[in-house]
Amino acid sequence: MSTQLLDQKEHDAKKRLAALIQEGQKISSGLQVEKLSLPAVKGYELVVKVTDRKLNLVGIIAIHNTELGPALGGIRIQPYATFGDALEDALRLAKGMTYKSAVAEVGFGGGKSVIIADPFKQKTPEMLLAFGAAVEKLAGSYICAEDMGCTTEDVKVVRKATKYVVGLPHEKSSGDPGPFTAWGTFRGIQSAIKKLYGTDSLEGRTVAVQGLGNVGSHLAEYLFWAGATLILSDRDAEKLERLTAKYGAKAVSTDEILKVPCDVLSPCAFGGVINDQTIPQLKCKAIAGCANNQLLKDSHANVLKDRGILYAPDFVINAGGLLNVAAELDDEGYNPRSPRYKVHHIYDTLLAIYEIAEKNRESTHSAALALAEYRIKYGIGKRVVPPTFHHSA
Ligand code: NAD
Repeated sequence: MSTQLLDQKEHDAKKRLAALIQEGQKISSGLQVEKLSLPAVKGYELVVKVTDRKLNLVGIIAIHNTELGPALGGIRIQPYATFGDALEDALRLAKGMTYKSAVAEVGFGGGKSVIIADPFKQKTPEMLLAFGAAVEKLAGSYICAEDMGCTTEDVKVVRKATKYVVGLPHEKSSGDPGPFTAWGTFRGIQSAIKKLYGTDSLEGRTVAVQGLGNVGSHLAEYLFWAGATLILSDRDAEKLERLTAKYGAKAVSTDEILKVPCDVLSPCAFGGVINDQTIPQLKCKAIAGCANNQLLKDSHANVLKDRGILYAPDFVINAGGLLNVAAELDDEGYNPRSPRYKVHHIYDTLLAIYEIAEKNRESTHSAALALAEYRIKYGIGKRVVPPTFHHSA
């Protein structure tokens, strides 16, 4: 689709939204929110299917655990092939958020939602408004935010139907989570270097970064200034060329990046990269990146351990964005200094996890899971003050 057509589409969508709101017809009357009681959702507190046939809306909101606070997690908009695929993704991501929040001690639980739609072709303001109305029905047990396929502009639309939203583009909001996630990942890479070599200096160490997006591009910059030698890869050739020139890095193809000899491999593109095919090809001493669900299966953590590759668990190292967005709901309002401090200390949390794993002769992944489960069981980090939503409508 040409840029002109896209601009026209966006313009039409904005006009329709303005008209909808003005007319007070905020939410379609065809919205249905139905609790799912399938065997697959056992162990989850609440999973609902959200539909509105008139609007072609099919979505899922999954709340895994709210022991430590209301569930917080993004809205992912993706053209899943089947409802089962969407459900599987929502469940996996919601559970991951429970563990990420527990280790980060943000006083939130785990939840996630998905909308089955192509974000470039099928997403409409009406659909987002109806989805927001479904979030509102859950009365704050699930707080939504942006995620893949769902922009800050989209959550602004969702906000018209519910206050249970974070990550809005306004002055009281936390803004782009990328730099915070990148800083946490940088500190995680330092923790891995410290564990491997006894010093956390990155001077002369080689780090291979897969994916130079919102997080990876900031990470490359932090690593450059810390003196690391960089090997970079991205499927976007123009971006790759620009950033390799900027940081005096070596560029490699998307096929090569997982196989290059390096101190740390940093997966920052997508999940599932650590699997039966890739593990035998790895030539890194540690893996420390921001991508969610890097291990295709939990058991791959043991294979890494047996190969002597140190793994910084993804849901610990990539919590910087969550810490930042959670600060938006502090009763005194958002101040970037408080999440900065917490993100910085992802380093210490990871060092502690490496030690526990070593003592218990288990993988770092299972040590991190055990830490999260312990905190949930004993209410460590449980929210005492309800979240405050500072934004106005
Ligand atoms: P992004 O979409 O901005 O960036 C992903 C980058 O990876 C893009 O530049 C893309 O071109 C590149 N890419 C895609 N396929 C590739 C391949 N085969 N080889 C090399 N590069 C490839 O995403 P992001 O926001 O930077 O997030 C990256 C990962 O981190 C995702 O898995 C995301 O879920 C996770 N994460 C992000 C945040 C955040 O704050 N943005 C927080 C936690 C976790």
